[in-house]
Amino acid sequence: CGIVGYVGGQSALDVVIAGLRRLEYRGYDSAGVAVLADGGLASARKAGKLANLGKVLDERPLPSGTTGIGHTRWATHGGPTDGNAHPHLDNAGRVAVVHNGIIENFAVLRAELTERGHDLTSETDTEVVSHLLAEAFSSCGDLPEAMRQVCRRLEGAFTLVAVHADEPDTVVGARRNSPLVVGVGEEEAFLASDVAAFIEHTREAIELGQDQVVALTRESVTVTDFDGAPADVRPYHVDWDA
Ligand code: GLU
Repeated sequence: CGIVGYVGGQSALDVVIAGLRRLEYRGYDSAGVAVLADGGLASARKAGKLANLGKVLDERPLPSGTTGIGHTRWATHGGPTDGNAHPHLDNAGRVAVVHNGIIENFAVLRAELTERGHDLTSETDTEVVSHLLAEAFSSCGDLPEAMRQVCRRLEGAFTLVAVHADEPDTVVGARRNSPLVVGVGEEEAFLASDVAAFIEHTREAIELGQDQVVALTRESVTVTDFDGAPADVRPYHVDWDA
């Protein structure tokens, strides 16, 4: 339902949680976050309101990091439980993925992954993406390229945002039939399903086009199509008040 990603110099957790709050008006049934820190990936997720997630984070604080992602879920596949909340991780716990929309061919992909020895633990359509992304990354070693390979296999509607502990200064996103906007700041960048999530930080935005993948670092925003061809970006200034 709501998606936020961040890379920069601030606490990713603070930026992501504040962004998710700005998207609360859309309604949701669960929430979660993942942060890259100390060479690893730490995450927390919880059914219910952001306040419930806040309690989990109070009891078990995440290490502080400056790259992170977050999600508020509106369940379509699998009930609104802790285990179905996003982010979804791969079995090694190195990849975290958040997703809006529906992966129509998830059952086929899930069967394939199970056959190859992956252990999928949720009832969501989303979880296949984290496992596919981990596999693709381990063979190509490049997160945006891994995301492109995965997107070429997906059917349906999706906004995806992901991080990998082996590429800790990058947040990657992709979209098809579902919105994704980049916010470009000074030495920091944002990804969100809606500009409201980041306009307190920057009003310089780039709307992703259909079937595009974006890679964000502190210094760069790189957009391609699903085959890797560079895409034209359309920067604009957000001049309304939210
Ligand atoms: N289909 C996904 C799920 O049920 C994502 C739902 C959403 O857009 O929040 O987990």
